[in-house]
Amino acid sequence: MNVLLVNPPLYDFAAHNFWMKPYGLLQIATVLKLSGSSVCFFDFCDTLHQSITDRRLRRDSYGRSKLPAKVVGRPAPFASFNRRYRRYGLPISVFACFLDEQLSEKGNFDAALITSSMTYWYPGVFEVIQFLKERFGRDFPIFVGGTYSTLCSDHLRSKLTVNGIYTRNGWLGESFPLPNDFDFQPADFSLYKNLSFGVTRLSRGCPFRCTYCASAVLEPKFRLRPLDLVWEELRPLAKRNVRDIAFYDDSLLTHSEHLKAFAEAIKRENFNFRFHTPNGLHARYISPEVARLLKETSFETIFIGYECADEKILTEIGGKVFFDEVKYALQNLKDSGFPPQRITLYALIGHPKIGYEALEHSISEAEKLGVRIMLAEYSPIPQTPDGETALKRFSLDAHQEPLFSNNTYFTELVLGTEKVQRLKDRVRLHNQRIAGFLK
Ligand code: SF4
Repeated sequence: MNVLLVNPPLYDFAAHNFWMKPYGLLQIATVLKLSGSSVCFFDFCDTLHQSITDRRLRRDSYGRSKLPAKVVGRPAPFASFNRRYRRYGLPISVFACFLDEQLSEKGNFDAALITSSMTYWYPGVFEVIQFLKERFGRDFPIFVGGTYSTLCSDHLRSKLTVNGIYTRNGWLGESFPLPNDFDFQPADFSLYKNLSFGVTRLSRGCPFRCTYCASAVLEPKFRLRPLDLVWEELRPLAKRNVRDIAFYDDSLLTHSEHLKAFAEAIKRENFNFRFHTPNGLHARYISPEVARLLKETSFETIFIGYECADEKILTEIGGKVFFDEVKYALQNLKDSGFPPQRITLYALIGHPKIGYEALEHSISEAEKLGVRIMLAEYSPIPQTPDGETALKRFSLDAHQEPLFSNNTYFTELVLGTEKVQRLKDRVRLHNQRIAGFLK
């Protein structure tokens, strides 16, 4: 079997390659190869693709970079939202050339698997499906998986015909045969010619149930990943001298024994990695011992879910963290030698329960803690308790039109452009102070 795997382009008001890789698709590549299939892989968001000549897409020291982008017309739901809307990713012509090469090398494809990410990025998924249908005919077998397909399968089914749609409850339509534990398998990074970072996981799912988060829908059970599979993933990256590894875990610290076993093995293997935690860590679990462990295991950047400083709101949205726990975590991290420039608090903005005054207060409190702040714009995700309530409150039907879950759009709808800009400017100045650029 010859299978085409595609990570589509995305459409948004802003996007950045913040350690982004189509991890699930790379795991499927491993499974397919093990079963004797041949795999052709194309990532529209590969910022090190040989076709890219734009120097403005330079990488930072941790391998993150801008994505190739082109301004496009705003779709009808955003007609009155005065912001530039862009297509991010490699041009479709580069994909067409790739297909030509692969066809002459390996022959026809038997099927295509397309992954999906944010629900409101679906126009990129549609672009790839339509292109493949035009190129290979209406009967060409196409299967779609990922976040959008799980959360908005009805939307996809109502708009386009594909053979199978993967959701956490199984396939809708035809099934594409995959073993149950495919999401534990090592991701196959050999499919990239060039790599500036890798990604990994020690677990799947999250034991918490924050009311604004889709983790419980996407991964209903919390499961620890066997460490031997993690090594199979990391060893080839070490051989290629990839230094930066981002964890995709939703809850990396809840099982400290697993993390300890990982840390001990990292020492034994003598890997030269730097680890990053873009999905955010739980402050509650950053004890003095865990903070030391993170430092000794070469965790380089630490991102912490802070959300806001209001205890009542925090309790209402799931109680995963409280202000005193954030202070406790920061003290332990600083005592272990983490410089404040490498610690970032995620502050949630645009959530309808967190009004502007609460936001200003939260940012003032976060500023006093002396570490970086990053504003995380809220997305009302379908099938989440807060998402459904928020969408109803603003009379938006994200099941019919997933674009309404766009975080930039929704945050400005809740707070207004001016207030959002004021908060962003304030946080930018604060971060410049932390970096030592401003007094
Ligand atoms: S702790 Fe994080 S991943 Fe878990 S439910 Fe809350 S927001 Fe989601």
